[in-house]
Amino acid sequence: MAITRRDLITNIAKAGVPVAAVMSMSTMASAGSESTQAESLPVPNAAVGLLYDASLCIGCKACEAACNEANNTPEDISGDRLHEAPVDLNVFTRNIIKLYKPTDGSPSSFVKRQCMQCLDPACAAGCPFQALYKESVTGIVRWDGGKCIGCRYCTISCPFSVPRFQWQGFNPVVTKCELCSHRLAKGLKPGCTSVCPTGAVTFGPRTVLLLEAKRRIKNSPGRYYQDRVYGEKDNGGTQALYLSRVPFAMLGLPEIGPESVPSSSLRWQERVYKYFALPALLYVGLVAVIRKNLKGHEAEALEQEKETGLRAQQ
Ligand code: SF4
Ligand code: SF4
Ligand code: SF4
Repeated sequence: MAITRRDLITNIAKAGVPVAAVMSMSTMASAGSESTQAESLPVPNAAVGLLYDASLCIGCKACEAACNEANNTPEDISGDRLHEAPVDLNVFTRNIIKLYKPTDGSPSSFVKRQCMQCLDPACAAGCPFQALYKESVTGIVRWDGGKCIGCRYCTISCPFSVPRFQWQGFNPVVTKCELCSHRLAKGLKPGCTSVCPTGAVTFGPRTVLLLEAKRRIKNSPGRYYQDRVYGEKDNGGTQALYLSRVPFAMLGLPEIGPESVPSSSLRWQERVYKYFALPALLYVGLVAVIRKNLKGHEAEALEQEKETGLRAQQ
């Protein structure tokens, strides 16, 4: 199996070799070429995902309740202490419907938020113990509680602010949508997609969902923002795909660009180390010159002492 530069860096870093040394090796390995292109991201053969069409969503929240039921999570009444009304994703809420309502009279929109199942997941790239990993066949990003040390790095590395860490309890967990993998194993669909009354969220192979999204765009000119499927290329591609009438950024989907977060951070680190190499070499050279001069001065002083018999006062 071919080992990519990313694999090399990840494995060496996990073995405890200092980052600077790793990056120097990486820079040397790419010497002679700019090597600044993002690695092309393979889509797993049987990648599955979600297509969420915000223009069809009526905000009924049936998908939220179905997610709770499917994942056996308790109702979240943290919003008003009375009704199940979570204000954001949290350790009990892996799927949430939010409302974007501008004050200037322009169109409002609901948005469904859950893990995007990134093709190049930053959460997994940053996890020091591979407790978060991408399944090779389905591409679902899973969490393995047996490997997690609770460092919470995944909660800050995800560009979509998805993973949530449980702060209470003796054995805290990291939670996020895993596309109801336990239901898929039984031949069932994810909870959210099995109850949606309008077809706003559908489940299937990523290739099929992408074709369906493009068919909708083609059949309804001007309906969708930029005639674009969010997740086709964004952040290197995701397995949750979005269609919307309003700008994606308004729905909390950042404009990251086509390069994935792990890939772009790797490129920036490479640049930083590359451009630090020359100052570091100059510094090493300067230290060598100073040490040589000091040794010269010491030898000269000793010689003078021998000649004059002069000694420093003790
Ligand atoms: S959305 Fe966040 S948690 Fe989900 S796969 Fe991507 S980086 Fe990981
Ligand atoms: S909290 Fe667990 S899953 Fe998250 S980065 Fe740390 S070890 Fe990995
Ligand atoms: S069940 Fe469907 S229509 Fe209702 S909130 Fe969820 S995605 Fe929207």
